[in-house]
Amino acid sequence: MSSNDETKVILNRIASVGVLRPTTNVSIVLKYLGFEGIDESLLNDLVNRGFLKRSFIDKLLACPRCGSLSIITKYSCPRCGSINLEKTRIIQHVECGYTDSVIKFLRPDNTLICPKCGREVNERNMKVYIQFFECLSCGFKTSQPNIVHICGNCGNIFKPIDATLKPVYIYELSDKGKELIGK
Ligand SMILES: [Zn+2]
Ligand SMILES: [Zn+2]
Ligand SMILES: [Zn+2]
Repeated sequence: MSSNDETKVILNRIASVGVLRPTTNVSIVLKYLGFEGIDESLLNDLVNRGFLKRSFIDKLLACPRCGSLSIITKYSCPRCGSINLEKTRIIQHVECGYTDSVIKFLRPDNTLICPKCGREVNERNMKVYIQFFECLSCGFKTSQPNIVHICGNCGNIFKPIDATLKPVYIYELSDKGKELIGK
């Protein structure tokens, strides 16, 4: 196939769906492998009755509305709420001292050229001062964007303060549990 044919194939496929739209798929499921049929409340009941002991190993974010663990995290602009942020940084061309946002150095081919002296800038002759996020909607600059969570199951959008924190435990037999089954 010539590259022109390939171009037509892809254009035809996109034309057939109208708009090419992505989907993201996050699926986080907590499982005790081999024990899928056993409810966590049963395990906790055995802990309360002294037959099992549990130890904390992890904490997962859960949706406050539906309890799903399939949570997507986004950063948003503290001023306008947009999630269209770009990571940028202030760099210095060490040889001439020129200091500015990396965007000022960037050429279309992704190389860096010093706007002051015209020389090439690379990892060896530049100093990175600060990294920050720049909002492409309103121009606000910050190193601390707001954190927003989106539930992959029910679509609920929530802040960290509203998230449910689900503890995750490992379980093992206590002495009383071992005694009961003669081990
Ligand atoms: Zn320079
Ligand atoms: Zn903004
Ligand atoms: Zn949810």
